[in-house]
Amino acid sequence: MKHEVERSAGGVLIRGDEPQNKVCLIQVPTRGGNPSWRLPKGWIEPDETSEEAAVRETREETGCNGELLSELSEIEYWYTRRGDEPGERIRVQKIVKFYVMKYTSGDIADHDHEVEEVRWYDFKDALNTISYDAEKRVLQEAIHSWDAYLYRQGI
Ligand code: ATP
Repeated sequence: MKHEVERSAGGVLIRGDEPQNKVCLIQVPTRGGNPSWRLPKGWIEPDETSEEAAVRETREETGCNGELLSELSEIEYWYTRRGDEPGERIRVQKIVKFYVMKYTSGDIADHDHEVEEVRWYDFKDALNTISYDAEKRVLQEAIHSWDAYLYRQGI
C-alpha cells in the first residue's frame, strides 16, 4: 500500500481571565455519528511555519486568536484513505505538532462552518471529554506548561 506523510499543527488555547482556567475544544462530525472532541489543528501550508499554521488553524476553527507561549510534543497516528485510482488505498502517517496558546481575543461563535461546535472546558472536564489519548497527553503537558507560565508571571 502507498505510504504518505501528512504534517499538521494545532493549538491548546487556554484562557485565564475567568475564575477558572478554561481550554477550547472543538467538535467535528464523524462518520460513525459519535461526537469527536479534539484540539484545533490543521494542514501546514507550504509557505508557513508550523507555528503560523497552529495560530491560523486555531483562529479558523475556534473563532479565537491566541498568542503562542510554548511548544509541546508532536503526536503521530496512522490512518488509511482512498487514493485517486479506483480501489487505491493510501496509508497515511500523520504527524501533528501542538503549541500552548494564550487566548487574546475573538468569540467561539465565529468558528469555521466545518466545525460543529466549540466549547470552553475546565481542565478536568476537557481531559474527560477529549476523544484521542494522544491529544489527552498533549493537553496534560499543556496544563503543566500553563501552570509554569502563571508561576513565572507571579499569578
Ligand atoms: P487536519 O485537521 O490535520 O487537516 P483531517 O481533518 O484531514 O486533518 P485527521 O483529523 O487527521 O484528518 O483525521 C484523519 C483520521 O484519523 C480520522 O479517521 C480520524 O478519526 C483519525 N484521527 C484523528 N486524530 C487522531 C488521533 N489523535 N489519534 C488517532 N486517530 C486520529
